[in-house]
Amino acid sequence: MPNATGPEQEVPVLIVGGSLVGLAAALFLRWHGVDVLAVERHAGTAIRARSGHLQLRTLELLRSVGLEDVVRRKGEEQYDPNGGINNVESLAGREIANYFPDLNTGVAEFSPTVRLFIDQDKLEPILRSKAEELGARLRYGTECTELLQDADGVTAVLTDTGDGTQSAVRARYVIGADGNRSPIRDRLAIGMRGPGTLSHSITIYFRSELDLEPLLRDRNQGVHYVTNPLLRGFFRLNRSGNAGFLAINLIGDTARPEIVAAFPDAPWANVAEGITEQRALELLRAAIGVPGIPVVIEDIATWHAVAEGAVSYQSERVFLAGDAAHVVPPNGGYGGNTGIQDAHNLAWKLALVLSGKAGLALLETYDAERRPVGDLTVEQAYTRYVTRVAPYLGTQGVQPLVDDFSMEIGYCYNSSAVLPGRGDSSSLHEHPSESHGRPGSRAPHVVVDRAGTRLSTLDLFGNGFVLLAGPAGDAWYAAALAAGQQCGVRLDAWHVGSDDLRDADDRFPAAYGISSSGAVLVRPDGFVGWRAIDAADASSSGLVDVLNTVLCRG
Ligand SMILES: Cc1cc2nc3c(=O)[nH]c(=O)nc-3n(C[C@H](O)[C@H](O)[C@H](O)COP(=O)(O)OP(=O)(O)OC[C@H]3O[C@@H](n4cnc5c(N)ncnc54)[C@H](O)[C@@H]3O)c2cc1C
Repeated sequence: MPNATGPEQEVPVLIVGGSLVGLAAALFLRWHGVDVLAVERHAGTAIRARSGHLQLRTLELLRSVGLEDVVRRKGEEQYDPNGGINNVESLAGREIANYFPDLNTGVAEFSPTVRLFIDQDKLEPILRSKAEELGARLRYGTECTELLQDADGVTAVLTDTGDGTQSAVRARYVIGADGNRSPIRDRLAIGMRGPGTLSHSITIYFRSELDLEPLLRDRNQGVHYVTNPLLRGFFRLNRSGNAGFLAINLIGDTARPEIVAAFPDAPWANVAEGITEQRALELLRAAIGVPGIPVVIEDIATWHAVAEGAVSYQSERVFLAGDAAHVVPPNGGYGGNTGIQDAHNLAWKLALVLSGKAGLALLETYDAERRPVGDLTVEQAYTRYVTRVAPYLGTQGVQPLVDDFSMEIGYCYNSSAVLPGRGDSSSLHEHPSESHGRPGSRAPHVVVDRAGTRLSTLDLFGNGFVLLAGPAGDAWYAAALAAGQQCGVRLDAWHVGSDDLRDADDRFPAAYGISSSGAVLVRPDGFVGWRAIDAADASSSGLVDVLNTVLCRG
């Protein structure tokens, strides 16, 4: 038992770390009705932008908890909603590549929402206020300084960073959302693997006294990579074009083989070492491409670009999420997004295990499902780092690029909480146009009409299990009504193509890979857990077996 004074509080789930992922975990757990305490050693939410690019799946999750509109409004105040990502010699210079002319090209076919930019310091307060509105307890200025688990739970010592007073908390489960240097991961002796540290980087936060808009010539994309003989990095510029940050990963001409050869142990050009405001100003002006341009540096942060993932996301009652589980360079905008999706995957599982409705083994599917996705993300962020920032690293050991739709909404789970059909693929990712609702994939977006209101199938998910039956799937629909009651879990059933829920574009059976009499079972995280191609085996007892399996009831 750790040393602590003060009364011991009890809480089902303690979250250590109250930044992007800790806040998301608190929000999603409360969404599922779990009592939660999150502790954060800083005094409040983020004060500077880091994460900015929100991917489709993250927006879908925020939509499911009612935050899409507020996040989109805030994002659009800051950034052009139709921005993109390009690569330039300098803001004033030549465009070298355009990775995403418009972030949302082709998105409407696959998702009811959009990709967008919103700075982390603007997003965190939104997550915080929703988590608190739902009843999460958040304690800032509080550090978790000890953690000890036993067979029944975890005891944590919390230290007030102001006056040093300590108190003990007893939790059934703990989520370590404590960032890339995760003290919890160290305490659990969980190792990391992957390419490791890629560069010692800096972020220069600045504003310009001159209008940068004319330099951009209608090319304000949100993100501009900069590639020139002095430096490699990227700008994130808000829509005025006059403020934002420049992240620099490398300095020196990495295109010259003799320089690279002279420093075989990359990171060889350490921009962070001894950085001064004057030096930062020189680099910033070089990246803007206008000598002497009046710019004001507001802050300089130093950080490491790292690509590696934890070898395990669970140690008994403690789970790792976010940067504690996987650290990636910012290229591709994966870090925060992947962490928010970790939290979403874990929340419904903890809720059902804590309420006694699922077997303990359901918790093991968190590692089984999220770690392969985390490893893929580490590889793909590394691929994007090498191709966009550090081609001198060469192509050996670099995985081919997986397209962004497959990365964002095409990753698939293989675990005991998924029942694949005979002949179903088990690949880790697929383009969303190819997965057709196969078990383990994210349930596809299909436009449906409920009492004259058009919505997405995704709007039907999020609180419990959902059975979607095809237009001739009456037998499955009836089976679901009985099975939900028998299993004691929430199971909503929809007859897609009926008067209650019209299939607006007649796409549902094909999009979900079933015949008109088939059905799919969607888990509370919006992933398909099981499907029946037709009604041949329709029965409530069959569906009860399926639910018992997905719930890992042994
Ligand atoms: C320049 C840059 C640009 C980026 N752009 C993007 C992007 O566009 N999209 C994207 O998705 N990601 C992006 N990222 C990555 C993103 O910022 C991180 O992945 C994200 O912040 C991780 O969130 P987290 O909550 O897991 O960890 P962190 O943000 O590191 O938070 C961990 C928190 O835990 C707290 N903590 C640690 N130990 C304790 C303890 N013992 N007790 C209490 N509190 C503790 C820390 O104070 C910290 O607040 C970017 C990163 C950088 C550097």
